[in-house]
Amino acid sequence: MVDRSSDITENLDVNNESADSTATETAPLRAVGYAAKHSFSNLKRFEFERERANANEVELEILYCGVCHSDIHQVKNEWSNTVYPCLPGHEIVGRITRAGSAVTEHRVGDLVGVGCMIDSCGSCGPCQSGDQNYCEGPNSWLATYNGPMIPAAKAPGEINTYGRDNTYGGYSNNLVVKADFLLKIPAALRPEVAAPILCAGVTTYSPMKHWGVKAGQKVGILGFGGLGHLACQIAKAMGAEVTVFTRTEEKLDEAGKFQINAVLENDEKALDRLKSSFDFILSTIPEKHDINPFIELLKRDCTLCVVGALEPLEPVNNMQVAFHRKQVAGSLIGNLADTQEVLEFCAKHAIGPEIELIDIADVNDAYDKVEKGEVRFRYVIDMASLKSTE
Ligand SMILES: [Zn+2]
Ligand SMILES: [Zn+2]
Repeated sequence: MVDRSSDITENLDVNNESADSTATETAPLRAVGYAAKHSFSNLKRFEFERERANANEVELEILYCGVCHSDIHQVKNEWSNTVYPCLPGHEIVGRITRAGSAVTEHRVGDLVGVGCMIDSCGSCGPCQSGDQNYCEGPNSWLATYNGPMIPAAKAPGEINTYGRDNTYGGYSNNLVVKADFLLKIPAALRPEVAAPILCAGVTTYSPMKHWGVKAGQKVGILGFGGLGHLACQIAKAMGAEVTVFTRTEEKLDEAGKFQINAVLENDEKALDRLKSSFDFILSTIPEKHDINPFIELLKRDCTLCVVGALEPLEPVNNMQVAFHRKQVAGSLIGNLADTQEVLEFCAKHAIGPEIELIDIADVNDAYDKVEKGEVRFRYVIDMASLKSTE
């Protein structure tokens, strides 16, 4: 293997197997995490190796990783694109343990975040304009796990620009990442609270920024789970008047704690009163659902954007859309600049996800609760708990 020892500026004794001698610095990085071997299996302890950081990369010791609903979709192959073993996790906060010689923005010991992407082609139109999350390269962007987005087998000419076909994510003790894809964690955010902002936060912030949500507007949020409760807080901090729509009666009270108006999705009288009154509506519901009743709630020329469900939805009634020149749109996570921005936005406004820290051994149980809608509101895995699984 290539000798990369000269690329490394420093070596902290955090992953102690890496600090024994110079010889081990070029050996692959030993890693352990929780992975699923099949769509029907639970996540279990899984030992593997990662390649060492090159000059443009860093190695992290992972401290916390959020549990995102898409981890569950992916583990269970619900998007029909999962490669096994599947080691999920893309809401990662960790500390840099080694930095390549060309890395100038980050140093060993820095607290950093990694979201859904760890690389992109860098040369397509979207990448050139900073929208790495819409990369149009042959393999699209390199997802933090189960990446790249377009695997070699489905890419034109079966090209594999990243040289990788199944990345392993953040439910593990370490990670090797291109330094350009690191986010800085503001000092005002607790690291475990920052983790879900890296996916759930930017997924909701990015479309609200794109469609220009501003003070005084009325914003509707569909779904009050991991994404929805963050979306509500972000929209409110932007100065909007926020109403959340939920199926769950108990969540009406919880919305009150966030000083958010809440309406039951099937309360037809309430929906009737709200017709043509919203400037922007964001759907965070993580499964197939009917958006037609909510299109009616938009004002003329306004947009309903779906971020939660990546699948065919009920057909849209274009009568509603055309008669009032409304728009139905979608949005996928957010670019690196927006991710850094939402971290700072949350720090500045003292907002963030409500989290429950769990041990990694409890992750399968956590998945069941997320699927049943019993989580309030985001599970975050304390990666120190990996040690007790040995
Ligand atoms: Zn996610
Ligand atoms: Zn690109």
